[in-house]
Amino acid sequence: MAFEFIGFTYVSNFLTPEIEEVVFRVLDEANRKFRDWGLPLRFLYLDKMTLEPGYLITVDTPGGRVKLYPLEVLIDFLDYRLKVEAEKRDGILMNKILGLVGFPLASRNRYFDFYESFLGFQAKRLERRIMVLSIKPFEGENAEKKRVESRLLKGILHEVGHAFGLDHCSSECVMNPPSSLSEWDERPPRYCDSCLRKLRLQVGDDILSWKFRL
Ligand SMILES: [Zn+2]
Ligand SMILES: [Zn+2]
Repeated sequence: MAFEFIGFTYVSNFLTPEIEEVVFRVLDEANRKFRDWGLPLRFLYLDKMTLEPGYLITVDTPGGRVKLYPLEVLIDFLDYRLKVEAEKRDGILMNKILGLVGFPLASRNRYFDFYESFLGFQAKRLERRIMVLSIKPFEGENAEKKRVESRLLKGILHEVGHAFGLDHCSSECVMNPPSSLSEWDERPPRYCDSCLRKLRLQVGDDILSWKFRL
């Protein structure tokens, strides 16, 4: 059976070993869910990344000055990583990557509203899809590990949904966007029937057109 893979990496220099553990548990859980839902989709871990301090920018926020990596830099890094890793594995379908970071996301574009956007960002480069997600908002006020884990899992499922063309949804569904963290805690860690159907079709289509290209 053919699968579609999503490359996964994270920027390690801002994550504690405790959170790294959470990240790997969430990744396993996401793959288990894809399997249980009959989705021929899996995350493929591509090793962690380290970003050099030279790329840091200082941003003024309502909470004071913070140092961050600009989203544009991250997207370039992730796109390059995906390109290189996909070329190494030319027998598999992998044209999407998800990069997780431990700092808030910001952009040189001052209209970028990163306080409202808890969830991730996506960019397209040719046929490649790059997703960036910050774990920072999910940590909230010293949230316990289990809670961070569940929030992050849902964040990842949400971004994966978008990467396959799903829009926001108003059902009991992970594609239903929250307006607060407590709303996010109420969302189930799954897609509603309609979203899952669309996702399954899209993954199937991807695999089919990839097979015909070989
Ligand atoms: Zn969304
Ligand atoms: Zn839905």
